[in-house]
Amino acid sequence: MVVRLTDAWTEILRRRASNTSSGPYAAPVQEMLGEMTAAAALMQSNIKFDGSLVLQIFGDGPVKVAVVEVQPDLSLRATATVTEAVSGDSRLSQMVNVNNQGRCAITLDPKTKFPGQQPYQGVVPLFDDHGRPIEKLSAVLEHYMLQSEQLDTTLVLAANDTVAAGLLIQRLPMAGAGNLAGSMVSKENEDQIGLNEHYNRIAMLASSLKQEELLTLDVDTILRRLFWEEQITRFEPLMGETAPRFVCSCSRERVAKMIQSLGREEAESILEERGDIEVACEFCGVQYRFDPVDAAQLFTDSARLGQSGTDLH
Ligand SMILES: [Zn+2]
Repeated sequence: MVVRLTDAWTEILRRRASNTSSGPYAAPVQEMLGEMTAAAALMQSNIKFDGSLVLQIFGDGPVKVAVVEVQPDLSLRATATVTEAVSGDSRLSQMVNVNNQGRCAITLDPKTKFPGQQPYQGVVPLFDDHGRPIEKLSAVLEHYMLQSEQLDTTLVLAANDTVAAGLLIQRLPMAGAGNLAGSMVSKENEDQIGLNEHYNRIAMLASSLKQEELLTLDVDTILRRLFWEEQITRFEPLMGETAPRFVCSCSRERVAKMIQSLGREEAESILEERGDIEVACEFCGVQYRFDPVDAAQLFTDSARLGQSGTDLH
């Protein structure tokens, strides 16, 4: 499976960059979040989970949280909380795993839950079996897949300021329609898998893909270069409304309702203190600004009628 995010990814970056208090991401944070975004889209698409898939890194360094949320229809959003400056040559461990306390969590939150049901969450550390920090996000996620699904996975991830891309190769159970969401590898499956070397060969070819190639080449060229000796069945790419795309539930109207619910007095005291009311979306970073004229309009009679549920328009 290959994903190549362009519009969705640049929209995520644009919203962040437009936020006057955070400013744009430093290049290493941008790369990490882009790789996470590509990986989360691949994982959601792979398991076809009926609910949101949330990929998070909880850091113990300058980046406290990085989070990507992908819905079953592949709409997605991503953001990171950065509390200290990140230098341009920072590695993954220097951003999120300074004291080996960083963690990566994958949460599957079902759309429909029975009473009391909690989302499923898997957590993996950001260090290897010898306690050494892992510097590649792909290695962290391969570890997670092996641990949680018992399925060998090869991931190549890359991101820059215009593209977030990923390639996922996974060994599926031999029998039935089992995939990540379905059956585990059975004993007979294991035996069959042990007898064939196809996965190892394909995985090795896949991991020879360079990040620069993943970012710059189109999918057909990548597939041809990597697997020119293999017989390939190419599925139709997802396009438009079925493809991964950026969606955030925030809007100026929602923020307006929130300000109305604060009440006129509270709103006026904020205006007095700061000159305008500014609310940033915590999921995408975009800022909504209401100057005194905008704010006053929220408390006119017609605005209040609108708020109470009477639709005059
Ligand atoms: Zn938002």
